[in-house]
Amino acid sequence: MTATRLILGQTLAFVRDPFDGVPQDAAIHERLGAIAVSNGVISDVGPVDKLRTAHPDAEIIDHGTALILPGFIDAHAHYPQTAIIASWGKRLIDWLNSYTFPEEMRFDDPAYAREVAGRYLDLTLAYGTTTVASYCTTHPESATAFFDAAKTRGVRAIAGKTCMDRNAPDDLCDTAARAYDESKALIDQWHGQGRLGYVITPRFSPTSTPDQLSALGALWSERPDCLMQTHLSEQTDEIAWVSELFPEARDYLDTYQTRGLLGQRGVYGHAIHLEDREVSALAEADAALVHCPTSNTFIGSGLFDIDGLKSRGLRIGLATDTGGGSSFSMLRTMAAAYEVAQLRRRALHPAELLWLATRGSAEALRLEDRIGTLAPGIEADLVVLDLASTPAIAQRVARADSIWEAVFPTIMMGDDRAVSATYVGGHKV
Ligand SMILES: [Zn+2]
Repeated sequence: MTATRLILGQTLAFVRDPFDGVPQDAAIHERLGAIAVSNGVISDVGPVDKLRTAHPDAEIIDHGTALILPGFIDAHAHYPQTAIIASWGKRLIDWLNSYTFPEEMRFDDPAYAREVAGRYLDLTLAYGTTTVASYCTTHPESATAFFDAAKTRGVRAIAGKTCMDRNAPDDLCDTAARAYDESKALIDQWHGQGRLGYVITPRFSPTSTPDQLSALGALWSERPDCLMQTHLSEQTDEIAWVSELFPEARDYLDTYQTRGLLGQRGVYGHAIHLEDREVSALAEADAALVHCPTSNTFIGSGLFDIDGLKSRGLRIGLATDTGGGSSFSMLRTMAAAYEVAQLRRRALHPAELLWLATRGSAEALRLEDRIGTLAPGIEADLVVLDLASTPAIAQRVARADSIWEAVFPTIMMGDDRAVSATYVGGHKV
């Protein structure tokens, strides 16, 4: 017999995309809610009275008035940049040369990689993030360290060895052949093992030769069950550099598209300065874009056009882009998404922000049948938020007259103190 647990608190369960129609009607809110969990999977969600009657013998864990949501999903991060987060004063190319590449070189030491991978996952779990899609370094050991650390903690995780064979320090460069061989070996070792998935990961066109991009395109066509992640049109200087490196390309996306790196399971980070042709091609491919708002303001990249891109039918996830992003927290990331949209004269509703950080990211990573909502059959990865975690937030929430007004101050002002519990596969961590 399988033991069922009932986890009690306020619940917010999305039933549709809040960007389609009235945002506040996209989710069912229970002030006295419950989630039934058995074997690490949600079996029921609803009012507490109904679930208590249905599961009289269940173990009860009561979170009082705290709000239970699906665990946050960070759709784009670089775990090896954990120790250089919040480094001062650079834009994209300088950032890579000054901070990223020297730090990434340290990951040829497997012991260092293991230490940072563990530290990174413990930090993100403390912020309520239960799934991350991470870039690793060019060293296969960095991916092994990350997958090992994720497996130990039972978290669903996606990662890939970053591939680069030019415009980076020699010690960080692989080759077209090594990128293919090492990525393939890691796929065979890790993809689909438990809760782990592999993502083929060319860093971006400036650091891959056309041959390397083609080799990874060939690998993806052999393993279309894997995701492919890369960066796209983050800064205008970068776009100009891409057009120098690929004079024959129609635009930035074309450098991927003509080499087999545009497809349904493609996940493109940033995508701020897109040409209309690129948006059409991405939409036709049913690809996903990832919005990284703290990164986009921190390194001065620009303002993501969320409504314009959503209206073209693109899947859009939300991400920290640690450590180009300035926070590990998806609460802070939602706040930055709100601020970026405001600069485009659009106020994102709290329902839209929460959806982006959960179901939106799950859809971007093609995991919406596994994670990202409170619904039967979805894995029980949960974050429990104290909506009055500091005096400043509590005094504002005292005046709230709806769940949306009650949760918004935590989105804007909350940090890890707001996370009263995180569950991974039904277990509190
Ligand atoms: Zn990135």
